[in-house]
Amino acid sequence: MEKGNYTLTLIKPYAVQHGFVGPILARINGAGFRISAMKYLQLSLEQSQAFYQVHRGKPFYERLCKFMASGPIVAAILEKPGAVDDYRRLIGATDPKQADEGTLRKLFGRSIESNAVHGSDSDDNAERESNFFFSLLERF
Ligand code: GDP
Repeated sequence: MEKGNYTLTLIKPYAVQHGFVGPILARINGAGFRISAMKYLQLSLEQSQAFYQVHRGKPFYERLCKFMASGPIVAAILEKPGAVDDYRRLIGATDPKQADEGTLRKLFGRSIESNAVHGSDSDDNAERESNFFFSLLERF
């Protein structure tokens, strides 16, 4: 897996609880991404805080970490040339209210915090975040 060709997504607890895993994965496949790793898990609060360490100190940090540890999530590595930017376009703006029609956050998000999915915002973060969730033995 070459840097620049993959990104890391999380389907967040609210979207999982509401049965949106299937519809979200179908749109990811439909947009031409290959799923090269995937798991269903629940983060501990400590793991959630570690994943979101770049946001430590921001007003929404504690709530976000608690929310992301509140139920099961789906983590996946998505492969495609230019994956980071293409996936950010597919998911839309952070706040579902501002997201374009047809984007994952517009379709499946409830609020700025519970915005259905995470997508890496740079190739460096895609690498860091993929390593956080997956060993080399779990990538295909
Ligand atoms: P993203 O890259 O579009 O996911 O946005 P950020 O990296 O800025 O923020 C990470 C996550 O924190 C977002 O996906 C939201 O779930 C949450 N978040 C960001 N900004 C806010 C905010 O102003 N309020 C709340 N409650 N959550 C926020």
